[in-house]
Amino acid sequence: MARDSLARVTRDVVACERCPRLRAWCREVALTRVKRYRDQEYWGRPVPGFGDPRARLLVVGLAPAAHGGNRTGRVFTGDRSGDFLFAALHRAGFASQAASVSRDDGLRLTGAYVAALARCAPPANKPLPDEFARCREYLSREWALLTEVRAVLALGRLAMDGAVAVLREAGRVPPRARFAFGHGAVHDLGGGLALFAAYHPSQQNTFTGRLTPRLFDAVLDKVRRHLARSPRS
Ligand code: SF4
Repeated sequence: MARDSLARVTRDVVACERCPRLRAWCREVALTRVKRYRDQEYWGRPVPGFGDPRARLLVVGLAPAAHGGNRTGRVFTGDRSGDFLFAALHRAGFASQAASVSRDDGLRLTGAYVAALARCAPPANKPLPDEFARCREYLSREWALLTEVRAVLALGRLAMDGAVAVLREAGRVPPRARFAFGHGAVHDLGGGLALFAAYHPSQQNTFTGRLTPRLFDAVLDKVRRHLARSPRS
């Protein structure tokens, strides 16, 4: 079998048809669109991860948004959650610009890689457990290829559960290991690797003030301090 690579994972993700419910939904959304994006051609396919192959920070989100990543073809791009996330990554020095509007907007990530647990936009923003499980292979492969990663930032409890499932499947944590979720929680996984938790930058959290730029920056500060202490391979 040919050696795996990020380019290969991207190709496999984009061509994936394993979840009929999600594929049908993404295609339907791409055909019907919403009024404000009626003049745009939607991506409508699974959305691959994106970022620096030498990333030391891996950011794990939940799934693309119907009119965000499913429209633009880049994770967290073209919606309010992405506006919040990339602005924060820019303040922390991981992103070349705060704005993330399209696949060709010039945004570059340095030292960071962003991926989602499920790669297809789900109805009501809720993938089913078997859809998460089917899609986890892609996160697992990317993580294995991102050999410099020393910090994993899970956006929300479900993303954290998915990241822990990847660790369990890789034998990097005991089968029954449990990790408490809380905004700002940090779990030392040994070998210089740490798992960080943050509230997901969904509008539900950012519009209500549950998650503010200051609160998110505080988590990224912890990530940066951890990375500064953790040796490069
Ligand atoms: S959610 Fe993942 S596994 Fe399911 S069809 Fe999309 S890319 Fe494939």
